[in-house]
Amino acid sequence: MAVHKIVLFYVFTPLADPEAVKLWQFALAESLGLKGRVIISKDGINATVGGEIGAVKQYVKRTKAYAPFHGADIKWSEGTGADFPKLSVKVREELVTFTVPEEIKVGAEGVIGGGEHLSPEALHALVDSRGEEVVFFDGRNRMEAEIGRFRGAIVPETETTRDFVGELESGMYDDLKNRPIVTYCTGGIRCEVLTVLMKNRGFTDVYQLDGGIVRYGEKYGNDGLWDGSLYVFDGRMHMEFGDGAESLGSCVSCGEKTPVYVNCENPSCRTQFLRCEACTDKGLAPHCGACGA
Ligand SMILES: [Zn+2]
Ligand SMILES: [Zn+2]
Repeated sequence: MAVHKIVLFYVFTPLADPEAVKLWQFALAESLGLKGRVIISKDGINATVGGEIGAVKQYVKRTKAYAPFHGADIKWSEGTGADFPKLSVKVREELVTFTVPEEIKVGAEGVIGGGEHLSPEALHALVDSRGEEVVFFDGRNRMEAEIGRFRGAIVPETETTRDFVGELESGMYDDLKNRPIVTYCTGGIRCEVLTVLMKNRGFTDVYQLDGGIVRYGEKYGNDGLWDGSLYVFDGRMHMEFGDGAESLGSCVSCGEKTPVYVNCENPSCRTQFLRCEACTDKGLAPHCGACGA
């Protein structure tokens, strides 16, 4: 039986010709039968692709052979072969859409002026030395944090990444401006940008979790400071770090803990909400809260 893998990585590096990189990446991934999503911008690459293990290894090898992507930190996970509907390779204004393309500056070493990177071990050392003073700040969309987050984390009111600037400028977090703040997201890319935005808006002691929740979970599993499930953007929808993890979110119908998001059946809505598999099987709660039962 074929073994399938998914790789997730990003590189912030100046690209003189994003269109050419796009054409090359598309031809490479397509020739290997891979599917997934690749974003290219003048600031680098952000990719999640999956396929048969030998093909994925070839893709990684040939991507890293391109000098600007040589240092890519590749995160591997298990795939099913049906993790992505298609292959999409696009050029965008930003690798992650915070709608601040002019505010982010990228050099050969990556994003300029971001928060200090902390390895999972360094994060624990910071918490050991600064204790309760340390604030975790979720760099994802609110929905993602509903099923899992760092213990005690602040979760901003964000429907998409576009909402962060407004949140940071709302005054709601001004009392945190001199506290040690650790931002975190799935694989680390959103924090590369978010920490710049925070520092530019007067937050003075900002850190980012290197490799994101994915690397943290590999290191500490369910025995550290993380609680619940990790929301992921492929066919799996969520993942857990070993046995015994329980989602922090609950089924809208029966209240049981569940990490499973479903779409509202109203075709003009399609909002995602939590509903457990038992309630889905019974046909309960077909609509989101806003559309009614
Ligand atoms: Zn239920
Ligand atoms: Zn709805």
